[in-house]
Amino acid sequence: MPLDKKQIIEFDNVNVEGIDLGPQWNRMFEQRVIFDYDTDAMDKVTSIEGAESMGWCYQCTQCIPVCPVNQAGGEYGPRKIFRKLQQGIDLFTNDDLWKCTTCMNCLRVCPKEVDMIKIMPAIREESVLEGNVPDELQEVFEKTFEYGNPMGESQRKRADWVKERGVDVPIMKEIKRPVDILWFVECYPAYHNRGKDAAEALAKILNTLDIDYGILGTEEKCSCDSQRLAGETGLFEEFAEHNIGLFRKYKAKTVMTMDPHALNAMKHEYPKLGSKSKVIHYTTYLAPMIEKMQFKKSLDYKVTFHDPCYLGRHNGEFEAPRQLIEAIPGIQMTEMGRCKQQSYCCGGGGGGMWLDGFMSDHVNERLSENRVREAVETGADILVVCCPYEVSRFEDAVKSTGNEGKLLVKDISELLAEAMDL
Ligand code: SF4
Ligand code: SF4
Repeated sequence: MPLDKKQIIEFDNVNVEGIDLGPQWNRMFEQRVIFDYDTDAMDKVTSIEGAESMGWCYQCTQCIPVCPVNQAGGEYGPRKIFRKLQQGIDLFTNDDLWKCTTCMNCLRVCPKEVDMIKIMPAIREESVLEGNVPDELQEVFEKTFEYGNPMGESQRKRADWVKERGVDVPIMKEIKRPVDILWFVECYPAYHNRGKDAAEALAKILNTLDIDYGILGTEEKCSCDSQRLAGETGLFEEFAEHNIGLFRKYKAKTVMTMDPHALNAMKHEYPKLGSKSKVIHYTTYLAPMIEKMQFKKSLDYKVTFHDPCYLGRHNGEFEAPRQLIEAIPGIQMTEMGRCKQQSYCCGGGGGGMWLDGFMSDHVNERLSENRVREAVETGADILVVCCPYEVSRFEDAVKSTGNEGKLLVKDISELLAEAMDL
């Protein structure tokens, strides 16, 4: 709409404290409408329990430069969604609903506590109930429901990695006695080849340290935290109740997991469903035992470390992984610019693990590719991780960015086992 000249107030000349101000410098305007919009789209979002804070945004834009999806060319972040809602988009059916990885970097800087970690699952839950879900995610929900894991692998094969790798791992239903540590293996370490490498390494470390532990084997089912954040609340609750039942059956006081997503579910969500078990990430568990680890080899690697969002920002563990890495003889550690609180997301959280195809239409590069480029810039030989999603994501990204042969991806457990010569 053109400016109404009658609303302009200006003088040919004004003298302020001896300074002459011409018309362009003393121009004022009468009150004008700056935002005039239909609030229906915003109201539909903020009326959902958990999504109220979307309406609290005062558009300071702090969240935009830290959003990993925005950094990968995705035109994203809470402030951008807020503005689109003002313009009337229906977030319940819009692709923007599925781009957020729930990495929490925006909440870290937001002065108004606009909380995407609650907003996204709340709206997604409604969309899932309406059947508005990207196909690849729907497929994962169905596989999890049917097989107990997002890959659609047989539940009966969940403990096959133990025999396959020839490691001695006690299985709870066979040993029939309480243990100090109930190791919740989770899906990727149980089924994915590179996940199994990390699981094998951790089993060897636990055996060498003489830890009294056991795994749930074929009784264990996916923790379902990412499915919950992607909107499948019903599936999450059903699986959580199943796993909590096992924690009770085996009287587990401490559950240890390799997966920060499982850690998050068991620490913050399972207690709401009656769980009393303490849960710990394997890096937090192992860090106080560094003195007992007998390192036999010096690993002359230059490494950098990727903080998993759900271990670091979400659950405050930044030090234990670093203590373990730095304890390994010979290792030279270099931090990436975006580390610890400011760590960059690998793209796998909040359902992103299963949305690479969908996201390829919305970003210029995968988030994992952006991160791998940053790791390569440090001159590191190895990108060290401690989340089972990351090994496969980053190894794919190493290939797709043309960095094969320059950068390896390894779990902390693999490096520890190598240095202990296990
Ligand atoms: S940081 Fe918070 S208040 Fe500021 S624009 Fe982003 S969501 Fe809005
Ligand atoms: S949680 Fe992460 S991905 Fe989602 S909007 Fe915030 S910064 Fe972006």
